[in-house]
Amino acid sequence: MFPEFTLRYARLPERFYLRFEPVPVPEPRLVAFNRPLAEELGFDLGRFDAEEAAVWFSGNVVPRGAEPIAQAYAGHQFGQFNPRLGDGRAVLLGEVTDREGRLRDIQLKGAGMTPFSRGADGRAPLGPVLREYLVSEAMHALGVPTTRALAAVTTGERVFRRVPEPGAVLTRVAASHLRVGTFQYFAARGDVEAVRILADMAIERHYPRLLESTAAEPAGERYLALIEAMANRQASLLAQWMGLGFIHGVMNTDNCSIAGETIDYGPCAFMEAYSPTTVFSSIDEEGRYAYRNQPWIAQWNLARFAETLIPLIDDDQHAAIDKATQVIEAYEPRYEAEWLTVMRAKLGLATQEESDRELAEGFLETLQTGRADFTLGFRRLAEAVESDAPGLLELFERAEGIERWLPRWRQRLASEAVTANEIVARLEAANPLYIPRNHQVQAVIDAAEQDDFGPFETLREVLAAPFSRQSGREALARPAEPTERVLRTFC
Ligand code: AMP
Ligand code: MG
Ligand code: MG
Repeated sequence: MFPEFTLRYARLPERFYLRFEPVPVPEPRLVAFNRPLAEELGFDLGRFDAEEAAVWFSGNVVPRGAEPIAQAYAGHQFGQFNPRLGDGRAVLLGEVTDREGRLRDIQLKGAGMTPFSRGADGRAPLGPVLREYLVSEAMHALGVPTTRALAAVTTGERVFRRVPEPGAVLTRVAASHLRVGTFQYFAARGDVEAVRILADMAIERHYPRLLESTAAEPAGERYLALIEAMANRQASLLAQWMGLGFIHGVMNTDNCSIAGETIDYGPCAFMEAYSPTTVFSSIDEEGRYAYRNQPWIAQWNLARFAETLIPLIDDDQHAAIDKATQVIEAYEPRYEAEWLTVMRAKLGLATQEESDRELAEGFLETLQTGRADFTLGFRRLAEAVESDAPGLLELFERAEGIERWLPRWRQRLASEAVTANEIVARLEAANPLYIPRNHQVQAVIDAAEQDDFGPFETLREVLAAPFSRQSGREALARPAEPTERVLRTFC
């Protein structure tokens, strides 16, 4: 069933990981499987058998050619450096080459205690596994770079968190699991050679164009270019998150992917009523990772990444720091430009005018003062291209702001010089109707814990086409009623 494994990471020197066999689970049962992704990865689904798949995706049997390892990494958690984190409950089986020739990591998350577990149980509860499955696949359908979910298996065991919950294993697919924290692990040990190995791997796997563009330059320039390329991807990624009202929740440096994918969906959630200070995560007590802070936390994480590469950039430390600092500072205008690109699309604009930023900020202000739903607020602009639409106005507790803003927007649309239908099409292509709303994800989890996976199947099907109106699924587009709201999320 599995495609052939390439053991790229497992062939690195021993200090990069610890070998570890997944700990078998008593009753593996396949509860979700991502067929299109499996096909993309080159799985042989000819005689697919759910029972057999459960055995593989629980880790009970290691597929031929795989060499399970727990990767070593460090990380800043809420700003505090921890020199040794590592995969405490995840095992990398190896990499496979997908249909487009790209290497992809296959990892089992929740596979049992590893030497990095630090006293925790190494397992994953079903709830967070389903949340990661739904949200990561939704992000993919929304066009956001992300790790993917290939399968979910329940284990037949209970895991103990606040209350006992069913255990599960998620099969995660990633461009790689190289994190800022991976570099920090070695940099903190003064192991410059290991940092160089990681940087070369990152360039080869994720930024191969840098090999050519920096071929004629001193080696240090290539590592500087890596920071810049990574910064550009983060700028684009963060602009996309912000454009969707996505709140990651745990932007620690170990959850910051070098490939520029969204990774590690713990207490993440999508904002409903627009408020820039929104926080969902139960562990983010000070709001470090609040919605509006995210782009600047990404920059902070980039600075931590750059620090690890300083010895590779220039023998003169001061010169290296100056160069890296310039690259990190350039992130800010780059992010602002990416954000504006996202916002223009969300407002139906294809041309650029000086006043567009103000127009976008003006709309966000009306959402905030009107306590309107972020997702539907943008989506229903499509109904208001020519005249005030009740569907849009009803989202706002107070309508003065939006009523004042709409004529400004229509005036700006006029300078696009295209038909109203064209604007509507643009708006509906840029603004999703369906996002994984927190109360719906919670309802899916509650049902699944009672062994009903029907709601999970429905939600995942709807989220696979988030921009298309799907008949009979109107309820899944609406925000939570006050009594349904889920304002706290847990890892
Ligand atoms: P995270 O908050 O998911 O980024 O995880 C931070 C660190 O804690 C990582 O090293 C994880 O592997 C580890 N970890 C999280 N949950 C568990 C668990 N249930 N058992 C063992 N290690 C864990
Ligand atoms: Mg993590
Ligand atoms: Mg996590």
